[in-house]
Amino acid sequence: MGDNNIPIFFSEQLAKFNFGQGHPFHPERFASFIRLLKKAELIDDIHKMGLISATDEDLRMVHDDNYLAHIKYLEKINGRITMDTPVNSDVTGVQSLIVGSGLQAAELVLEKGGIVHTFGGLHHAGKDYGEGFCLYNDVAITAKALLERHGQKRVLIFDTDAHQGNGTMDIFYDDPRVLFISIHQDPRTLYPGRGFVNEIGVGAGEGYTVNIPMPPYSSYFQYEWAIDDIFQPLVNEFKPDVIIRNGGSDPYHGDELTLLGLDYDGLNMMASKVRKAVFEGDGACGKLIDMMVSGYGDFVTYGWLAMFAGIQGLDVDYRALAPAEYKRPGGYTADKLDRITEKMLADLKTHLRNHWKCF
Ligand SMILES: [Zn+2]
Repeated sequence: MGDNNIPIFFSEQLAKFNFGQGHPFHPERFASFIRLLKKAELIDDIHKMGLISATDEDLRMVHDDNYLAHIKYLEKINGRITMDTPVNSDVTGVQSLIVGSGLQAAELVLEKGGIVHTFGGLHHAGKDYGEGFCLYNDVAITAKALLERHGQKRVLIFDTDAHQGNGTMDIFYDDPRVLFISIHQDPRTLYPGRGFVNEIGVGAGEGYTVNIPMPPYSSYFQYEWAIDDIFQPLVNEFKPDVIIRNGGSDPYHGDELTLLGLDYDGLNMMASKVRKAVFEGDGACGKLIDMMVSGYGDFVTYGWLAMFAGIQGLDVDYRALAPAEYKRPGGYTADKLDRITEKMLADLKTHLRNHWKCF
């Protein structure tokens, strides 16, 4: 292509996403992804856009005043909101920028359609809590802006991070305007320990939260099965105005914090399925905000590249650009994985049957 037509919100300031030495989240990922795009000869296709910080008013679309005041206090004393999530002015500053990029992406995607990328997905922050490296929930704030500032009626959030998106789920748990679908590692085996098949929303929002808990070691085939069986039919029936996908490369089988089994081809497949849902079929809306930030270990940006290629429908030899793939030792047999997945999908559909014709 080479005509600068893929919009990505990127700033050198993302390097300030730094929780200090020894923390599993390394901020070099942003610059090194840009370098990898160069190596993959994709950099000329990219239109880098600057980030504008969210205002307090933006944050208040989702977060409580008391919570925001608490964050300001922690920032002043260089505190922590939870053991793994330090709060200082660099972290609040960069997370405000990430929220701002989501809001900018919302405007751009409505104006032009197509796919807009941000380096976001802070899905563990709730209305009145922060945790899991997340203070402000850019996914939820972006969805709220689409609904309340830009007149959209239905937003579908597809959270493909290995960790379940508890913050986003809680924020929209009673809200039927947002269909929240999360595919993640079985919460009995991974933080945040939420996202079971029976968590489907409450009140008017009942049926509009969908959790797909994948057994540990799930790989290409089980993911493909679950996405075809649950995600695509829901997109077709819900008919969203905009889709937001969030999640980085932590479902990768070499990730240091998780225990899933996707290889680069698996990440690419998952992303390609999202592209297909956005542009083909009954639920195609032609508008996607794509958010990537997670991944832990040496493989993060290679996983991002495999996903980026899938989302954009680009023919990129992402495997040739990456070091030899790490194979996680051990795991379940394919047969056992299939049996657990089959039962989980059947249980999930039982919970959703009263709310969706497709099940
Ligand atoms: Zn994660």
